[in-house]
Amino acid sequence: MKDVIIIGAGIGGLTLALTLHRAGIPCRVYEQAPEIKGLGLGINILPHATKELAALGLEHALADIAVTTREAVFFNRYGQLVHREPLGRHAGYDNPQFSIHRGDLQAVLLEACRKRIGADRILAGWRCARADQDGDGVTVHFNATATGAALAPQRGAAVIGCDGIHSVIRKQLYPGEGDPIYSGVNMWRGATWWRPFLTGESFVRAGWLESGKMIIYPIRNQRDAQGRQLVSWVGEFYTPKYKRRDWNRAGELKDFIHVFEDWKFDWLDVPAMIRSAETILEYPMVDQEPLARWSFGRITLLGDAAHPMVPRGSNGAGQAILDARTVAECLAGKTDTAVALTQYEAIRVEATANIVRMNRQNPPDAILREVYLRTGDKPFTNIDDVISREELAALTHGYARVAGYDKETLGSSRKTG
Ligand SMILES: Cc1cc2nc3c(=O)[nH]c(=O)nc-3n(C[C@H](O)[C@H](O)[C@H](O)COP(=O)(O)OP(=O)(O)OC[C@H]3O[C@@H](n4cnc5c(N)ncnc54)[C@H](O)[C@@H]3O)c2cc1C
Repeated sequence: MKDVIIIGAGIGGLTLALTLHRAGIPCRVYEQAPEIKGLGLGINILPHATKELAALGLEHALADIAVTTREAVFFNRYGQLVHREPLGRHAGYDNPQFSIHRGDLQAVLLEACRKRIGADRILAGWRCARADQDGDGVTVHFNATATGAALAPQRGAAVIGCDGIHSVIRKQLYPGEGDPIYSGVNMWRGATWWRPFLTGESFVRAGWLESGKMIIYPIRNQRDAQGRQLVSWVGEFYTPKYKRRDWNRAGELKDFIHVFEDWKFDWLDVPAMIRSAETILEYPMVDQEPLARWSFGRITLLGDAAHPMVPRGSNGAGQAILDARTVAECLAGKTDTAVALTQYEAIRVEATANIVRMNRQNPPDAILREVYLRTGDKPFTNIDDVISREELAALTHGYARVAGYDKETLGSSRKTG
């Protein structure tokens, strides 16, 4: 059997390698980075995706490093509590929610790939340029990242573009599509070693995009000698100024700190935490119009390459993981690769398009938009006079249903209170 060729050793590509291997389908992974190092900052993996990672035997390895997230907590920009709800197993799901450094997740997946599939099948320094197909398979063309020199073309049964937001495979399929679409929100991100706040396992969203919003959560289980945790944070607000998305672009404190200068709460001194960050990165919140088609014969797309979404529902990595499970299931036991990839697309295109749209309109942080609008961005006396508990619960439940991690869809072992 010919190998499936995977472009990109990010979260989607490495998970796909593991799901294909489990299904008995041989594969090779080609990554443009000269070395696969754990890059990025914090991400969250919700129960629908941790379920898949557990099925791949990775839950313990992840639980050792990540924070098993206990609760989502929403505040206004004055630090007043709006809403609090349990998450993952604490909310009655069979699987946890993890808050994790993207690099730690990538490292766990990479180690599993090397052990199960073989280190020689995960290649770094190979930048994909193009993929061609014929009746018998695909030919994928690469350049060496270090020198730009053309490398030997690679033959395979199929090629899956897991090459992220600036996917060359997507550009090849949709040459006229243009750059990702800017949402109007720019983000500054960092990670800071800081004293545990709230439960030490809390995922905080605060404020609103008009006057400044923060997302703050710890991402490593272990604490340093001073009892501090690694805390990932994102500050974001509407601004016409932004630069092309590059996951590693350095950000500058002076461009955003003024918005959060008076965010000194009894549970966290936000500006002090921001100022103590080792690195600050900047990137625009972007997505793309959902595509009606990803699969063209033996070529298809997965993860951000297929359905980039604005990061407002903690779902980018999770949906890439669900794609990976689906591709392997569709290919398993099929003789016609193109038919299998069309089946994958039929299962996943509409499901992910709905999340792309929901992330634009009503992700879980829409709770904060409601409070912002109803209070005119002023402090409130009693949150129950602003928004009812039923409305708050309906907003988060509605998102969970569209994103596929509501309890009815996933099943749960016990009821929550
Ligand atoms: C360096 C980096 C840092 C990130 N940091 C964060 C973060 O802090 N928080 C967050 O929420 N999300 C982050 N993301 C995005 C997040 O990982 C994805 O949104 C999500 O996990 C979906 O994963 P994916 O595999 O589709 O894409 P990605 O995780 O983006 O992986 C795509 C992979 O393809 C590789 N690639 C791209 N082009 C080519 C090519 N031509 N040939 C070969 N390989 C190629 C890339 O180097 C990358 O390894 C980051 C992504 C990257 C690449």
